[in-house]
Amino acid sequence: MTELFDTHAHLHFPEFATDLDAVLERARAAGVRHMVTIGTDVETSRAAIELALQHPDISAAVGVHPHEAAGAGEDALAEIERLARSSPKVVAIGETGLDFFRNLSPRESQERVFRWQLGLSRRVEKPVIVHCRDAHAETLAILAEEDVSRTGGIMHCFSGDADVAHRVLDLGLMISIAGPVTYPNARALPEVVRLLPKDRLVIETDCPFLPPQGYRGKRNEPSYIAVTAARVAELRGEPLELTAEQTTAAARRLFGLP
Ligand SMILES: [Zn+2]
Ligand SMILES: [Zn+2]
Repeated sequence: MTELFDTHAHLHFPEFATDLDAVLERARAAGVRHMVTIGTDVETSRAAIELALQHPDISAAVGVHPHEAAGAGEDALAEIERLARSSPKVVAIGETGLDFFRNLSPRESQERVFRWQLGLSRRVEKPVIVHCRDAHAETLAILAEEDVSRTGGIMHCFSGDADVAHRVLDLGLMISIAGPVTYPNARALPEVVRLLPKDRLVIETDCPFLPPQGYRGKRNEPSYIAVTAARVAELRGEPLELTAEQTTAAARRLFGLP
């Protein structure tokens, strides 16, 4: 049986409020053995932990998304730190990073909250989930300055080219491939997927966003990670079983899961 690991989902989002049990059943039937549900602000981080506490195969990450950075004052950050220490179900800090594509928060706020969360990840000794859109140079510079290799982490929903991928690997991070690798216009992703060492590649859905080819325009969900895994295996020229086993093992190692 194929064993898959969804390293980045937002299962506690309202899109899943009415049928989450069915979504989780389909995920398990598709071979998804573990999921990490990711917070984007204080409220959703709290919800992520609450959901993880109810399911042995769900873990949580707590953090402030760059879109929400402007609203994250001292009290909010203190609460994120409290949540990060509140339960062993919290396996990572994030998602955090820089998003200069939508710029929903001013760049200064994004950088402040990103650096603070990298500090938190060092204090609590948990890996970091990095979101980066149209901000590769700035994100890589901050990750290097904040010595991210001490905790490790994931560059999630990777959207860079081979050069950026090499620099991310040099920082000691893993690269997570999401649904866009299945699109006809996958840009540099096929090349990136081929160059990644087997212990540095993980996969994700980022659901409810970014459904793979065949489900575009619909709500994404963890069971669809099978489509992404199949494409990654095809690009690497290896059996799906092997891709599944290696990406799952890499994720378990990073998050300290048995
Ligand atoms: Zn993201
Ligand atoms: Zn996300």
